[in-house]
Amino acid sequence: MLIDVHAHIGRIVLDRREFMDAANLIARMDAWRIDRACVLPVCEHSKAPYLEAYTADVLAACALYPKRLIPFCLVDPRFAGNHPQADFRFLLEEYRARGCRGLGEMLPKLDFDDPRALNLYRQAAEFGFPVLFDLHDTDTSYGLRDGPGLPRLERALRECPDTVFIGHGPTFWAEISADCPPDERCVYPKGPVKPGGAVPRLMRAYPKLWADLSAGSGYNALSRDGAFGRRFLEEFQDRLLFGTDSCRRSDLERGVPIVPFFHALRDNAAFPPEAWEKIAWKNAARLLRLEV
Ligand SMILES: [Zn+2]
Repeated sequence: MLIDVHAHIGRIVLDRREFMDAANLIARMDAWRIDRACVLPVCEHSKAPYLEAYTADVLAACALYPKRLIPFCLVDPRFAGNHPQADFRFLLEEYRARGCRGLGEMLPKLDFDDPRALNLYRQAAEFGFPVLFDLHDTDTSYGLRDGPGLPRLERALRECPDTVFIGHGPTFWAEISADCPPDERCVYPKGPVKPGGAVPRLMRAYPKLWADLSAGSGYNALSRDGAFGRRFLEEFQDRLLFGTDSCRRSDLERGVPIVPFFHALRDNAAFPPEAWEKIAWKNAARLLRLEV
């Protein structure tokens, strides 16, 4: 069994010709031996007008393959009045009733601990939705912002103690290492991981912080220092989730590196099979209350 907690449909790359529909996604899942996938809406028009997949689109796509696709919903923290007391419950209640299992992909160009975002994180927890976010500490792209050492994420973990957060994105994964120079916080840093990074520190301190392995950023963090990556996967085996974040229809032919990496990990005799099973699907089933 393999569950991808980070899949997409819609127009989400610069080349808008690569529209992905549900059938494209299912074909890719079959090719990559993925049984089920969480489909995440994305939209952040202020910085990236190509991000376009709304909750309604995701619900319609998932309704075509209810045994394979699991919908997430998305709410912009600036919606419903754009203030820190905005009430999103009417939306969250509707989305839960329509089958959504989480909130994300959260990627507005805001500080991670913007009061409007904290307000939304707290309300997501009321509905049992984990919050899957993209951290990208630059003005020129989508994604939430945080400084060196991730103090804003830590504030959210402290002030929203009931909310489960699923970390993702270049800045999140660059901070796996204590050695994280300013010019490497939005790219894929190479070389050995220096112990003491913000991500392992926060995951040890806050049991509600999870992470998905998806995208080039997740793959890079786990593969740049193979020994560290395997120790990280073992230590946090109860809160890591397999994911792809594959956005392009052409990924079917081209592939994305996390998929062969993760399949190879299962064949690695030195890696505990029970840890692999948890990251592959058991953690997702537990967190999202899936019947498997
Ligand atoms: Zn994504």
